[in-house]
Amino acid sequence: MANETLKAEIIEYAKSIGIDKIGFAAANPFAEMKSRLKMQQDDDYQSGFEKGTIEERTEPELHLDDAESIIAIAVAYPSRMKSRPTNKKGNRRGNFCRASWGHDYHIVLNEKLEKLEAYIASRVTGFRSRSMVDTGELSDRAVAERAGIGFSGKNCSIITPEFGSYVYLGEMITNIPFPSDEPVDDGCGDCTLCIEACPTGALVAPGRLNAQNCIAFVTQTKGFMPDEYREKVGNQLYGFDTCQLVCPKNKGIDTHHHPELEPDPELVKPELLPLLSISNREFKQSFGKMAGSWRGKKPIQRNAIIALAHYKETSAVDRLIELMKEDPRPVIRGTAAWAIGKIGREDGRQAILDCQQQEVDEEVLEEMAKGLAYFSHR
Ligand code: SF4
Repeated sequence: MANETLKAEIIEYAKSIGIDKIGFAAANPFAEMKSRLKMQQDDDYQSGFEKGTIEERTEPELHLDDAESIIAIAVAYPSRMKSRPTNKKGNRRGNFCRASWGHDYHIVLNEKLEKLEAYIASRVTGFRSRSMVDTGELSDRAVAERAGIGFSGKNCSIITPEFGSYVYLGEMITNIPFPSDEPVDDGCGDCTLCIEACPTGALVAPGRLNAQNCIAFVTQTKGFMPDEYREKVGNQLYGFDTCQLVCPKNKGIDTHHHPELEPDPELVKPELLPLLSISNREFKQSFGKMAGSWRGKKPIQRNAIIALAHYKETSAVDRLIELMKEDPRPVIRGTAAWAIGKIGREDGRQAILDCQQQEVDEEVLEEMAKGLAYFSHR
């Protein structure tokens, strides 16, 4: 009963610090999740960004030896921006996914969890906890599902009845045995829209994602982008929203509760060409506070080149030729050479031929050959 009262007080306090939804669950191991993760590992469907072993991802006690319950939190983010900059020929723009709009959610949610921990510690002697947001070992989704934050959709997102899947998730393992909340009923029914809309077939079955094929993951890799994704990635610079955008549970959902999560249109839909000349310092200053900058500027620049090729943006060819000639990074030189071919401005062919004479990197030479092939097929 005492913990019922404490739970009610925590829920009130959580609201006051901008936590949009909170749920409580027992800290038993996530047995079902364990077998799912094992299957993902065996099938080589993992992204490689996962942290910790399968045990660490599914056994709360490995993070807090006297774990009794887990508090799950959700913070809702916007799905629409107030003024969208125009994306037009001669000044093409790229796109960051919605989860990367606004201030990095890891920081925002960790701050809220720290406040919540301090609040509980001020009321309970001997309180112990361990909090995580996304990059922690424990599976945010498994915790959120058990704690009644939302159900796990076929698109592998947690879908809340109030905010759709446009929520960031975090959790706190505690040594207090709180009464548990009821899970939310599965709401997908017969719908398969996300599976049908996925351009790479990455949703291999309901609730099963081959992260290796997921565009969101592909935008975050640092090497050459495999050919089969270059057209499908379009103008995405970071992440991918299609499986959320098509979801009927997200229809009409657009939450603006947190000023720090509002997007700056110039940053989340940035002009592509200036991105190709941005220094490390400028990149950090402009994009460093966004979750989508965590892999540094190289993947964003590679994706910007692919986006310019997607648009066949002839005004970018001069800069692409410079990059092909001078950039010290093979991924940028090679992707630029491929893009020059794809865009197809006539002087691009000779530029590639000239650069071919000096190029020594095998992968860049392969990309140059692909670029030249575009000219011969025209
Ligand atoms: Fe579920 Fe349909 Fe949404 Fe996919 S699109 S998560 S199947 S409701």
